Amino acid sequence: MRKIIVAGNWKMNKTASETRVLLEELQAQLPATTAGVMVAPTFVNLAGAVEQLGGSAIEVVAQNMHFADSGAYTGEISADMLADIGIKTVILGHSERRAYFGEDDALLSKKVGKAIEKGMKVIFCFGEELADRYDKKHFEVVEKQLKNALFDLPETAWQQIILAYEPVWAIGTGETASPEQAQEVHAFIRSRVAGHSAEVADGVQILYGGSMKPDNAKELIAKPDIDGGLIGGASLKAEDFLAICRAAG
Ligand code: PEP
Repeated sequence: MRKIIVAGNWKMNKTASETRVLLEELQAQLPATTAGVMVAPTFVNLAGAVEQLGGSAIEVVAQNMHFADSGAYTGEISADMLADIGIKTVILGHSERRAYFGEDDALLSKKVGKAIEKGMKVIFCFGEELADRYDKKHFEVVEKQLKNALFDLPETAWQQIILAYEPVWAIGTGETASPEQAQEVHAFIRSRVAGHSAEVADGVQILYGGSMKPDNAKELIAKPDIDGGLIGGASLKAEDFLAICRAAG
């Protein structure tokens, strides 16, 4: 039985004081849930968030990291730096990193490799653009993204991988893949992972991301191959994020 995950990606939002307030609200009102709950504040607020949430059921995760151990990479953050402040999970491959910061599959493969080596969990994001879907290439695109970044990993490394299927056309647009559209791709993803290992495919959590909201979360998460959500916009309001946590059961 795969554990449901509800993860909030705060992106470049919330100052330190706003972060504190939102975390206070989440902590105070977090429903009893069997889901794993995660939040990803910006880098500068990670250490404070870890300290504030110490001992709480909410895990603080990072939005990105560099592939090198250390060195002349101005503005970057390493896995060791994250681990040192208590971060155990990192989001990699988000479509905004791919689109605005030129992150391609080859770079992401290096980042994933480093995170695995350092014992971190990775929420690996991928998904097709609108044009790919119009051209009916979405399965092909998704498979290629997975293959290029993950399919060379040894089977043991998959225990550190959480997948997040995020159709780019649904991110921050208010457009959501219907539960049927999302389930179709999630089942495809699982079948492709099964081509490498049936056991891994059975255990790997596949989150859906793309305008998940309180009013569609339950139906999406009820689908057999959707193991939770990676949530952007709706994770910035305690009320909405908590409603999604409740919908996750
Ligand atoms: C995301 O950025 O990962 C995301 C899913 O955003 P939103 O929920 O706002 O579509």
